[in-house]
Amino acid sequence: MLLWFAASYAFLVWIADGWWTGVVGCISMAFAMGGVAFSIQHDANHNALGRKWRPLGLVMDILLGTSSYLWRERHNHAHHTYTNVVDKDGDIEQLPLARFAPDQTWHTWHRFQHVYMFVLYGFYAPRQVLMGDLSMLVRGEEAHVPIKRPRGGDLAVLLSCKVAFLVIALGIPMIFQPWWAVLLAGFFILWILGIVLAIVFQLAHCVEEADFTSEARLMKEAEEDGPREWARHQVEHTVDFARSSRVLNWYLGGLNFQVEHHLMPGVCHVHYRRIAPIVEDLAEKHGIRYSANRTFLLALRSHARWLKQMGQPPVAVA
Ligand SMILES: [Zn+2]
Repeated sequence: MLLWFAASYAFLVWIADGWWTGVVGCISMAFAMGGVAFSIQHDANHNALGRKWRPLGLVMDILLGTSSYLWRERHNHAHHTYTNVVDKDGDIEQLPLARFAPDQTWHTWHRFQHVYMFVLYGFYAPRQVLMGDLSMLVRGEEAHVPIKRPRGGDLAVLLSCKVAFLVIALGIPMIFQPWWAVLLAGFFILWILGIVLAIVFQLAHCVEEADFTSEARLMKEAEEDGPREWARHQVEHTVDFARSSRVLNWYLGGLNFQVEHHLMPGVCHVHYRRIAPIVEDLAEKHGIRYSANRTFLLALRSHARWLKQMGQPPVAVA
């Protein structure tokens, strides 16, 4: 993944000399950045590679422009604790632009969200890089879940990595290419990256087969039977896809096995493929609904149908 990233970078900075070469380089770069996000930073920042390899999590700060410290707060804490819980899981909070869950407010324009969201997903990465970290630091929360602000060493690492990212993303390229071309390419890369990242996340949590819940129901579950209900929640609110595709399993860093990832986020993704049948058997034994879409395309269609369903007025859904 890092070699792919380096090759795309070198091509864009030193070889690309026109529109077509630029576009090809940008697309390659966006997918390489997606690969780094899925396959390297995700495991490293879940501490699933062991303590020795934990610093690899900084590839997120230096190569992707987003703070790994704040990502851990947002993803490991908010998303993994409150998976598909309305008002708590930032990954399903895109109101008023989109409505992903039955308990969210409906607006007329949501009728067309199954079309326009596939374009708007592109803005996810530019927004995250340009404003995400800053707004989290200022607000001290993410989707109503308080975050621990970085201090001392953590803050120094965050700030120095921001400088390193700016040098790599803008400083060096601007020496060799026109400044406007660098800015344009930067935005285009982030826009494609946003679509890639958002679609992979959505196929695991925002499809017809996934459950959505409210905080009140989550609290009731926790009171009734803590660990068992926690496991049920993770499995029923998450969906696997394309489990037999070795290429996707490599590129997505196991994010096509999100059920297993949500149950064992500290286990490296290379093991998910073999863990999945065990989890599926256990889920069946305990009467827990385990879902998997056979292919990437089936999962994508399920996501589009879910967007369309959530785009209908709530009365029609009921
Ligand atoms: Zn995760």
